Amino acid sequence: MKKTDILIIGSGIAGLFCAIKIGKKRPDLSIAIMTKDKVKNSNTQLAQGGIAVVTDCIEDSFEQHIQDTLKSGGGLCDEEVVKMVIHQAPERLNELIDIGVSFDKNKSGIWNLGLEGGHSQHRILHHKDISGAEIEKNLIETIKQLSNITLLEDHLVIDVDTKKNNGRINCTGAFYCDKINKKVKYIRAKTIVLSTGGCGQIFKNTTNPEIATGDGIAIASRAGAVIKDMQYIQFHPTALYEENKNPFFLISEAVRGFGAHIVNEDQKRFIFKDDIRGELATRDIVSQAISKEIEMSGNPYVYLDCRHLDFEEFYSHFPSITEYCKTIGLHPEKDLIPIVPVAHYQCGGINVNKKSQTNIKNLYAIGECSRTGLHGKNRLASNSLLEALVFAHQASEHIAKNIDDLSFAPKDAMLQFDEPLMDKDSNYFMKFKKELQTMMTFFYASNDSDFVKILNRIESMKMATVGLLFKKKKITTQLIEFTNMLTVAKIIIEHHKTKVLKSAVMY
Ligand SMILES: Cc1cc2nc3c(=O)[nH]c(=O)nc-3n(C[C@H](O)[C@H](O)[C@H](O)COP(=O)(O)OP(=O)(O)OC[C@H]3O[C@@H](n4cnc5c(N)ncnc54)[C@H](O)[C@@H]3O)c2cc1C
Repeated sequence: MKKTDILIIGSGIAGLFCAIKIGKKRPDLSIAIMTKDKVKNSNTQLAQGGIAVVTDCIEDSFEQHIQDTLKSGGGLCDEEVVKMVIHQAPERLNELIDIGVSFDKNKSGIWNLGLEGGHSQHRILHHKDISGAEIEKNLIETIKQLSNITLLEDHLVIDVDTKKNNGRINCTGAFYCDKINKKVKYIRAKTIVLSTGGCGQIFKNTTNPEIATGDGIAIASRAGAVIKDMQYIQFHPTALYEENKNPFFLISEAVRGFGAHIVNEDQKRFIFKDDIRGELATRDIVSQAISKEIEMSGNPYVYLDCRHLDFEEFYSHFPSITEYCKTIGLHPEKDLIPIVPVAHYQCGGINVNKKSQTNIKNLYAIGECSRTGLHGKNRLASNSLLEALVFAHQASEHIAKNIDDLSFAPKDAMLQFDEPLMDKDSNYFMKFKKELQTMMTFFYASNDSDFVKILNRIESMKMATVGLLFKKKKITTQLIEFTNMLTVAKIIIEHHKTKVLKSAVMY
């Protein structure tokens, strides 16, 4: 494919929903979705808990959801954005239901709403404990029915191409690896949407799958986009502890909402020392309390205790969690489940306005790779699938309305290339990758502030990889992803440094 009206990068909830919305509204436009692996491989596919939406306006209200989100965000949310997202939520939810996504109801036919940390009401719609897989399946089915959308698996985007026009940077196309034909190619597009998800793989312990290498952030920053708040990486307090596991299996927050307790080695609950909400405090508070307990005890984990819960009901809500635990010999009805906080969600990202526009003309960002102002310092549980839906909608509306005023950039003979893509590299980078993951995990765990030392080490790893990439022209997908991980790690550390320096000036 040499050109497309709209190029969407990534096939999680954000990219697929955006493609469907534009595809239905404007059947005359060509839309290509490029995704670097198989279509389902995404954070979306793994989402367990569900989507936070106010559906019952008797007990609950938009105002309560807004207040919970603002409180969780620690004073850094954009209140206008929070209001927009929460007010739009029921409409976006109905669109998901219209394409076939099913959410659990109770025996009287009303939504079976889950409760999660930081929420003052039960308001999480879910499909058992596999909400993301249910959403992804239906989005993919819908995409297949829309003839103006082409889904390209195993297409890893390397960079977006930009030109300066009237003093403003304009996005005009993208370089990508066609992993099937082993070629590096170029595509022209009038508009590009980044929906590349998060960067959990920068850390040794994470819930994020292998694809979560922060590519969108690195691509956008190389293009000159503004990146914000990357220091706010959310750690999920209850990942199942298994030695040398990557990614870690998540035990959904909804399990605590269902009544599970967090206990220490002496089987005592301890989160109340830090917050009166106990296990249902927000993730930052629960994660910190667990980390402190782990440090004091010297044990690498604490426990989730589900033994007092009604097991039949537990199983019907959490079948996949129960089955996974069984595969490693744990039975939630009689065993304590070892848990540990791990990197889970990127609250910052590519800065966008309410229409999902970045500062680069014709470049949009949606979903986890974007920074919309909804989450502030700490995302409220189950607000991210919702954010992805709302900002995918916002982008789709703006693109559908404005694309007729855009034209393709003229063909550039230099860019019509077909470079060979090398096979997977040997384990050359694995050593560096492990070192980076350990360094970043340690940085967060210890609050290490030797920024210079860490930045220098990132820089030297970058020199080694970039040297291979450009000097020897040895392009592999691993190399591209690892270079992106280094770029994003550097941004995270720099954002931390700026925060520390700013607060030093204030005192
Ligand atoms: C285990 C787990 C449980 C979660 N549970 C919940 C929950 O219950 N509720 C909730 O609201 N949130 C939850 N989250 C968070 C939520 O799932 C994500 O924030 C959300 O799914 C992100 O969607 P996305 O479309 O932005 O990105 P993703 O779903 O991660 O999709 C990113 C896509 O981009 C592709 N991609 C990346 N780089 C490139 C590239 N260079 N070229 C081409 N393609 C690329 C990837 O292959 C992938 O297809 C959970 C996350 C995890 C990991």
